[in-house]
Amino acid sequence: MKTQVAIVGGGPAGSLLALLLHQQGIDSIVVERQSRNYVLGRIRAGVLEWTSVEVLRDAGLSDRLDIEGHVHNSIKMGWRGESVMSIDVARLAGKPMMSYGQTMIQEDLYAAGDAVDANFIFEADEVQIHDVRTDAPWITFKSSGETVRIDCDVVAGCDGFHGVSRTVIPDSAKTEYEKSYPFGWLGVLSETPPLPTLLYANHENGFALCSQRNEMLSRYYVQCSLEDTVEQWSDDRFWDELLTRVPNSEASQIVTGPSIEKSIAPLRSYVVEPLQWGRLFLAGDAAHIVPPTGAKGLNLAIADVHYLSLALAAHYQGDPKLLEAYSATALRRVWSSVRFSWYMTALMHRFPEQTEFDQRAQEEDLIYLAGSTAAQTSLAEQYVGLDL
Ligand SMILES: Cc1cc2nc3c(=O)[nH]c(=O)nc-3n(C[C@H](O)[C@H](O)[C@H](O)COP(=O)(O)OP(=O)(O)OC[C@H]3O[C@@H](n4cnc5c(N)ncnc54)[C@H](O)[C@@H]3O)c2cc1C
Repeated sequence: MKTQVAIVGGGPAGSLLALLLHQQGIDSIVVERQSRNYVLGRIRAGVLEWTSVEVLRDAGLSDRLDIEGHVHNSIKMGWRGESVMSIDVARLAGKPMMSYGQTMIQEDLYAAGDAVDANFIFEADEVQIHDVRTDAPWITFKSSGETVRIDCDVVAGCDGFHGVSRTVIPDSAKTEYEKSYPFGWLGVLSETPPLPTLLYANHENGFALCSQRNEMLSRYYVQCSLEDTVEQWSDDRFWDELLTRVPNSEASQIVTGPSIEKSIAPLRSYVVEPLQWGRLFLAGDAAHIVPPTGAKGLNLAIADVHYLSLALAAHYQGDPKLLEAYSATALRRVWSSVRFSWYMTALMHRFPEQTEFDQRAQEEDLIYLAGSTAAQTSLAEQYVGLDL
């Protein structure tokens, strides 16, 4: 097979890149390790920066997003199980955010890909990337036991944190920055009406988050130990803990119900530099991971492929400058989001070695935030994200 851009990974980054390239008249093939249904079944992100909404709209993905997405003008932050502040993000930062599940974005992306006959190959095993330091790279993979080869001009590594693309860059040519956090998030999805506003809670038992997917679908998280298993968290234990951690005034409004999905995710910050190695370009979780506290991971993946699609379009029109600058351009935004996600994580979580002094200092930070328009504006700007 032959194409202009071989895209490894058919998650949000890879499938959006294929669509954006198609709009620029650039041919691509997406090679995804999992089945289509498996990718569609993953429950992950839910909060979109406004720039992400605009990129998705420009990609022709606004039909369902504009009907089912929930625009949020504010977020709430609580502490001690009793105090709560509301930050008017839209007023302070000039733009709101939107709740719209990653699962729905992935459905929209595959449907839009089908409509333009985009070339997605699912269940591709043992993807290997070759000769990216030449002008004629190629990839191979196994499909139903047969080895398939795709010749291309460029390889886009969009295969997430556990993908193969990043490993192609030799250790001597890359720098990795990593921070693992000593706790995880237990997430629960329930078919219950959510709270109207995103709510982050700091509590001496640990962090909690109340978020929305749609009018009858809620996503809740509580901080848990990395040693915990889902089996140790019955629905009753989960709801008890959540209601303890969020302020009383909000807890009384939460409608509990049976969980329809429950999972534990570790929290990590990671960045690799540079995002380019010859004709290989990394985008999304393949290049960086942030703890979900800042709601940035999916948004960074969307920003990366926005930059990469524009750079590839310029490259095919004979201008190499944007592609040469891709790594530096994308990394500027990446580090801004990495810093913000780290700050939000440090502010809202209970660390194992945390003393009562540390707890009071965290709460004082929140009290300061509640009383300072300047501090709220700074947080709001970073929460809704920089302009592209
Ligand atoms: C619990 C949780 C909550 C989150 N909340 C938010 C949030 O509120 N806001 C936000 O912005 N982000 C959030 N995120 C992060 C967000 O989900 C990710 O950043 C996003 O999925 C990144 O998209 P991606 O396409 O880069 O990577 P992925 O979604 O990981 O997609 C990569 C794809 O590549 C495929 N693949 C892997 N290896 C190979 C291979 N060798 N060959 C071929 N294909 C391969 C995988 O199967 C996958 O389909 C959250 C994540 C988690 C886990």
